[in-house]
Amino acid sequence: MLQSSIISVSPHLPQIHVGGGAFVSQLAWFSCGITSAVACKLAIESNPNTEIYYIEIKSAHPDNERFIKDCEKWYGQKINRIKSFKYSDQFDVIRKTRFINGPSGARCTKELKKNVRFDFENSLKPNLFNVDGSEFTHQIHGFEYKISEITRAIDYLMDFPYTNAKFPLIEKKLTKPNCAKMLIDAGISLPVMYILGYSNNNCIGCVKGGKGYWNKIRVDFPEVFWEMATLERIIGHSCINGCFLDELDPLDGFTPKPVLPSCSVVCEDIMPPQINLSKAKKVFYGQMSLNVSY
Ligand code: SF4
Repeated sequence: MLQSSIISVSPHLPQIHVGGGAFVSQLAWFSCGITSAVACKLAIESNPNTEIYYIEIKSAHPDNERFIKDCEKWYGQKINRIKSFKYSDQFDVIRKTRFINGPSGARCTKELKKNVRFDFENSLKPNLFNVDGSEFTHQIHGFEYKISEITRAIDYLMDFPYTNAKFPLIEKKLTKPNCAKMLIDAGISLPVMYILGYSNNNCIGCVKGGKGYWNKIRVDFPEVFWEMATLERIIGHSCINGCFLDELDPLDGFTPKPVLPSCSVVCEDIMPPQINLSKAKKVFYGQMSLNVSY
């Protein structure tokens, strides 16, 4: 069932046919972030029959194209691209839906990433025109080795068991700084957004950012700041709780390294959060594996 999005994908790479209509290949999600980049590399090393997918959004930093090319060389294979057919970026989502975010999360994450992923998964299911189907045996995500991410991974495994998700960074105890070092050691410059001081390579002008983030965007990308400020007034809602950007004190929360939540194909999927902190701690301290049934 194709809904709001998709699919402009380069052709699937060759898959190993093992009989009975099943294909042994896994899908790794690449986000242009440093953790997912390393997770994709580890996925290919553990199973060369891995296909990598990236969801394009127009407001990504242009340097992402350089990073994608570098990673393709590192992987020895193409990174496939999919995108929403309905919306080009967060500005487009906000303009058309007049909605920024709410208790269930950011509307742009839902439209630009989550629904694109769901539509893509649905397109892979066997149907009249695709009788063999080409569903992947596993999906690979770049959650890093820290307790909050392990908690998310456990929740994700419970909420989406059909994806048989794997989290190679958690399995190998790799943190984001470890991943940055691996990329640099491989001769790959980190995406420019990290170099500029952002903690994640989200869209430029991410609605998940707080006052300090937006004041940094005001300095680094003034045209993006004012585009969002103008849009806020048009729809009558602000992306920072209770403060329109055109009224934001330029010094409020300003920091060269603002904290910005990551945004991935699984953001806002995990609702409501499960209470898995004790399990996450056991995984963190090596007393439990993620590869058990929860
Ligand atoms: S990175 Fe930010 S702006 Fe982009 S889709 Fe995610 S929440 Fe929206």
